[in-house]
Amino acid sequence: RGTTPVPPDVRPRLTVLSGPSGVGKSTVVAHMRTVHPEVWLSVSATTRKPRPGERNGVHYFFVDDEEFDKLVANGELLEWAEFAGNRYGTPRRAVVDRLEAGEPVLLEIDLQGARLVRQSMPEARLVFLAPPSWDELVRRLTGRGTEAPDVIERRLSAARVELAAEAEFDTTLVNTSVEDVARELLTLMLQASDHPDSS
Ligand code: 5GP
Repeated sequence: RGTTPVPPDVRPRLTVLSGPSGVGKSTVVAHMRTVHPEVWLSVSATTRKPRPGERNGVHYFFVDDEEFDKLVANGELLEWAEFAGNRYGTPRRAVVDRLEAGEPVLLEIDLQGARLVRQSMPEARLVFLAPPSWDELVRRLTGRGTEAPDVIERRLSAARVELAAEAEFDTTLVNTSVEDVARELLTLMLQASDHPDSS
């Protein structure tokens, strides 16, 4: 283990990691946070209740419906979407500040959010995290053990639709190993200047 410093001369690059619920996006991001603490990760606002171990301001900004309404009304979110009965959104200011400072930015958001970012920031690179197989995805969604059965069912039906979206993405990473995916993701983020849209 070690850290790879982000070269200061890479072009500002917004990378969006998306994919079906339960595919392991947040595990990849957590691994990235541990191995590459120098990579800045956007912290989303959500109306979902914290899971055990989740900390306000680290994993999410946990807000109530009224606070979320205010963020939307004041234009403070780059994008937001409703997912499995809760709302999630990316605070705009922090992302814009980082990009203006020339730093790479990683968003881990759902498919609807990825589509919204594509519209508002076409230069973003959209990375699809795919499960090794459907059976593996079902196993992961069922095995987390933190969600009620009706929540799991909602997430599975969302996942079926989301898997078909792979074609809309620039790149697919298959989540066979968290370490490999995190490494590949960082490489993509640092390849900013090679991306055809980045000129
Ligand atoms: P979870 O409740 O499991 O943490 O997240 C549920 C889904 O919401 C995941 O697919 C996650 O990527 C997505 N998500 C997290 N933050 C955001 C955000 O700011 N915007 C959008 N559109 N989706 C998000």
